[in-house]
Amino acid sequence: MSGGTVRVEFHGVRGSTPCAGPQYARYGGHSACVSITAPGERPIIFDLGTGLTPYGELLGGAADGFQATALLTHLHWDHVQGLPFFTPLHHAQSALDVYAPGQVGGSVGEVFGQMMRPPFFPITLDQLHGSVRFHDVGCDERIIVGDALVTARIVPHVGPTLGFRVDWHGVAIAYVSDHGPGCCGGRHDETIVDEVLALCDGADLVIHDAQHTQAEFGAKRDWGHCSFDFAVRVAREAGARRLALFHHCPTHGDDVIDRILLDASDASDRLGGPTVLAAAEGMKLDFDRVGVR
Ligand SMILES: [Zn+2]
Ligand SMILES: [Zn+2]
Repeated sequence: MSGGTVRVEFHGVRGSTPCAGPQYARYGGHSACVSITAPGERPIIFDLGTGLTPYGELLGGAADGFQATALLTHLHWDHVQGLPFFTPLHHAQSALDVYAPGQVGGSVGEVFGQMMRPPFFPITLDQLHGSVRFHDVGCDERIIVGDALVTARIVPHVGPTLGFRVDWHGVAIAYVSDHGPGCCGGRHDETIVDEVLALCDGADLVIHDAQHTQAEFGAKRDWGHCSFDFAVRVAREAGARRLALFHHCPTHGDDVIDRILLDASDASDRLGGPTVLAAAEGMKLDFDRVGVR
């Protein structure tokens, strides 16, 4: 394995639905999409929400011949709507391998194709010039992507949903975008399942659902998300180094997220937990194997 900086870049940090307006200027309104890159290797993309559109624009002239791997947590709208607008796929030489949870009623490619077709959308997947290759993922899989080891585990949410961990050049990044332990399976709202702890174990960065405040959570507990306090507990119990609050609620403007970040940082300090940050569009985080345990 060769060394080098692993860069995490946030292109969409919003959950549920994209949103626009001056109150979202600093954290951004695009839905879930995060890229990870390492020198000389193909990018890995977490989720295909509307943040994928500005990511495609960023790639600009390098778009033709673009090759990447996407790790798709699940098929909810806020995680897939960017795919048709990802400009690299408008070029014949480009290809995207998409790993996503197996579905009831067909392969993930077939089920995705049912969403992306008239009358819901003007064109089908086949009409994109680039190639999109879907791969069904089971409840506990390890996938080799270049020099990266990807681990996929089932996460409690509404419908089949995966979380991912990427171990790359000695750096571990965990991605648990949608996590509502009490929404299914008869679990308590505060239960942290072993699958999630395994994904986040000692990670350099955990990117985690932080959709609600505690005050909001009660009325929305079956929506499949959690409070930011719960995200802090997950990262603390897993021994993670940093926590990025993610999947921000579309009703939370910048000032609300500022306050959530302060409260989450205080909670983490009290627990002896990790450094906390609030994910924002355009935020870049670099990790080197130097100093990584
Ligand atoms: Zn979501
Ligand atoms: Zn969801």
